[in-house]
Amino acid sequence: MTPDPLTRATQRLVRRLDELGRISDEPRKLTRTFLSPAMRRANTLVDWWMRSAGLRTHVDAVGNLIGRREGPRPGLKTLLLGSHLDTVRDAGRFDGALGVLLPLVALADLRRRAVALPFAVEVIGFSEEEGVRFASAYLGSKGYTGQVRASDLRLRDAKGVTVREALEKRSREGFSLPKPAHPRSSLLGYLEVHIEQGPVLEKKDLSVGVVSAIAGQTRGRLTLRGQAGHAGTTPMALRRDALAGASEIVLLAEELARASKPLVATVGTLVISPGAPNVIPGEITLSLDVRHPHDANRRAALAKILAAAERVARRRKLACEWTPTQDNGAVACSPEMTALLAASVRRVQKRPAELVSGAGHDAVVMSAITPVAMLFVRCRDGLSHHPDEFASPADIEVALRVMVDFIERLARKHT
Ligand SMILES: [Zn+2]
Repeated sequence: MTPDPLTRATQRLVRRLDELGRISDEPRKLTRTFLSPAMRRANTLVDWWMRSAGLRTHVDAVGNLIGRREGPRPGLKTLLLGSHLDTVRDAGRFDGALGVLLPLVALADLRRRAVALPFAVEVIGFSEEEGVRFASAYLGSKGYTGQVRASDLRLRDAKGVTVREALEKRSREGFSLPKPAHPRSSLLGYLEVHIEQGPVLEKKDLSVGVVSAIAGQTRGRLTLRGQAGHAGTTPMALRRDALAGASEIVLLAEELARASKPLVATVGTLVISPGAPNVIPGEITLSLDVRHPHDANRRAALAKILAAAERVARRRKLACEWTPTQDNGAVACSPEMTALLAASVRRVQKRPAELVSGAGHDAVVMSAITPVAMLFVRCRDGLSHHPDEFASPADIEVALRVMVDFIERLARKHT
């Protein structure tokens, strides 16, 4: 028996993920950062796969690789599909890449079956999502949607090169701030397939799930100032130990988040000063990351954590200062696109599944110009940003079948 064409397409897709996963800026591990030599090689390879799927390709002003297939007549709207081609350091080969390569085999299958699409399709391989080189995420999708700001261009990498200099080097015509690639009125929406990067689908024993919303996130630094002193001679009652205060705050944040599902709150770094075994910690800076699918709940939770931190600080006679560094609102996925996607999931997987994305994705930025939807694919042990990141061919095939079914549903809706 010859295998089903979509099973064969999945095998091709898995081979391509392996091949792309070997293109790296570092030996023996996968690292591809914004505009790096490996990114250029990755773009060349994906460009070839895009053209094999019948797309016309170009690279835009911020290095995004874009493949486009026109509709049957001019003036039709465009469906956007894609994800990012950059990676974290020592990455897995599915994060981002799956969302760029899967649409190509889906479109190749539709072309093979001569399915008429009453819209244009664009597949985008974003040049930057992870924020590795310039410590600022989404440069690719910000460029595509016309949201790069002058302040983004001034960011410097570890070698002191600015974003503007890196972009100018690419092009002889110089660089000017890009406008949105499309007006909102000409777009149908953006669908991104991505590995879940968490354990929810695995726990539910499901291959794929539809994302209902992408959680908003607040990040900031909390600084506590007490008094450094001799660890041997300062009696316990006279101490103003900033680390002891910070420890209470870490546990308070955890307790509050545990009691307010689906809130998540994380203290990921602690900087201890002076930081010596025989000195009472005089100053602590801790990072706090708070996420929730509803902005009002996130703000309320943050306010609660900060109020609790201040109470701890007062009791311990510590100065307490909060400096926010990032604030992204939650993004609700498009009800229309999500309903269509959910219908495809029910058909292919038999069981529906809906989940919230705790991680940010290109879809967050794309939501500024068009309705967005996301499909998550189970990954082993929920592991991501790690070389052992793995999505099984069987799960990838389910995702491929869902995308093909989704595009056909969308085509029927717009015919
Ligand atoms: Zn990603």
